[in-house]
Amino acid sequence: MTTPSSTTIIDGKAAAAALRADVAKGAISFTGKQGRRPGLAVILVGNDPASEVYVGSKVRLTREAEMKSFEYRLPADTPEAELLALVRRLNADDLVDGILVQLPLPRHIDSGKVILAIDPAKDVDGLHPENAGRLMAGLPGLVPCTPLGSMLLIESVRKDIAGLNAVVIGRSVLVGKPIAQMLLAANATVTMAHSRTQDLPAVCRGADILVAAVGVPELVRGDWVKPGAIVIDVGINRLPPAEGAGKGRLVGDVAYEEARAVAGAITPVPGGVGPMTIACLLQNTLTAARRRMGEPA
Ligand code: NAD
Repeated sequence: MTTPSSTTIIDGKAAAAALRADVAKGAISFTGKQGRRPGLAVILVGNDPASEVYVGSKVRLTREAEMKSFEYRLPADTPEAELLALVRRLNADDLVDGILVQLPLPRHIDSGKVILAIDPAKDVDGLHPENAGRLMAGLPGLVPCTPLGSMLLIESVRKDIAGLNAVVIGRSVLVGKPIAQMLLAANATVTMAHSRTQDLPAVCRGADILVAAVGVPELVRGDWVKPGAIVIDVGINRLPPAEGAGKGRLVGDVAYEEARAVAGAITPVPGGVGPMTIACLLQNTLTAARRRMGEPA
């Protein structure tokens, strides 16, 4: 299959690097004014290997972005009350601007309760119901990082999306619902599709902007994509490894080769939305720091 020469492959790695460099500049200027660096506290409970990798990257990139990283690695059997007490301590710590509790938490801990305990002004993951409500109400708040990164990638190829038809597949609190709100705020006409949607391919074919946040490998086929559409693939799925091979290949929720033959612009997996998530976490930390200190954010 040949790719139309006009198809833009959206380079999330480059966009994320540029955003991190911008955040680092902002952090240096913040430090100059406030006499301290913006601070991000990351809490990891247990030793889930994927979470260890994410937390390691977050800590490294926080430092590279000229911010202070506070790292808390707690054993898997940490009592819920102890975790809640740590969150409350960090809420009260003036050197901490952002608090991130790495999910998923061990089963004996109620993650909803932990998220509710985070000061909404420091909720850099944007998961506190107050921040979800602010997004819905069009008030300033902190928005979840993956949808924020996805929106920035859409804007990188099309500044004004007013009146365009956007279809979001997936209605999770983490991705689907917030990105639908952001698209609506940017004046797109938004359809939310999910596991009960009838004739999903036909719904997708009407999309000028198609966002897939499902978790089903290569669900979206090339003939679901409207010619020229912007396709944002949030999915990260690991295929089973081939016989004798180590790890399986990473794929998104979109059949990439098929879709890019039709789309106007598309994000690859890996290298699309993924790298934007941490960059937006750093941006949210800087935003939270500025707001807490009364600086324009
Ligand atoms: P989730 O499981 O919470 O939600 C999935 C949604 O997809 C649900 O609303 C469900 O209704 C819908 N769905 C499931 N099967 C469907 C089907 N066959 N047809 C239509 N809709 C269907 O998942 P999530 O947390 O929103 O994550 C979605 C994907 O995005 C996953 O692959 C996840 O790994 C990835 N993700 C990536 C990043 C990143 O940094 N790039 C961050 C978060 C999530």
